[in-house]
Amino acid sequence: MRVLLVEDDQRIVDFVQRGLKAEGYTVEVARNGQEAIALGSVGKFQVIILDLGLPDINGRDVCERLRNAGVGTPILMLTARDTVQDKVTGLRSGADDYMTKPFAFEELLARIEVLMRRRNGEIKPETKEFQVADLVLNMETHEVRRGETVIELTPKEFSLLECFMRMPGKVLSRTRILEQVWGYSADPLTNVVDVYIRQLRRKIDDDYAIKLLKTVRGFGYKLDAL
Ligand code: CA
Repeated sequence: MRVLLVEDDQRIVDFVQRGLKAEGYTVEVARNGQEAIALGSVGKFQVIILDLGLPDINGRDVCERLRNAGVGTPILMLTARDTVQDKVTGLRSGADDYMTKPFAFEELLARIEVLMRRRNGEIKPETKEFQVADLVLNMETHEVRRGETVIELTPKEFSLLECFMRMPGKVLSRTRILEQVWGYSADPLTNVVDVYIRQLRRKIDDDYAIKLLKTVRGFGYKLDAL
């Protein structure tokens, strides 16, 4: 079970991270809204714990942006303030639950469990299919097509393509790709990203007039139809 914890307060990060790890969860931490959106958009978490007061973008906006991007991961919002208005706006922005700081760890755990149960029992609102031009990636069947042609990808190539399909037109740096597809433990000095990009291109672009996967010199790569 992977949990994304979005919180800038180190004491709370320590407290929640320690507790969740002891319960067998894998916890990744985002310290600000930008990081939260970048990490949360990939859809690899079962729950997102999102603090309302962040140094850059506030939690409500982060939540809204994730929902607008089609991210259906359950979001538990944390706030230091306890007003009805805060609670209402938090829920309206797309959060599934809401908790006021300070809280007992047991309560946090109970709420996470409820969110995950609820999620498992329902039809996932998360996007199942992504499309850029005639390239389609289906998250459920793991099928990738360009037009009518089915393209066979390895699991890593699929994850790599998924990164781009979730954020069409956005330039992704090698570091970011490495983190998202290979995890934080990956060695940033290897050229594994470039190797896989080449492989992916061979499969999704080489036989087609319109190339979708582009190199943005000095920055990274992006996928779009322009
Ligand atoms: Ca905070």
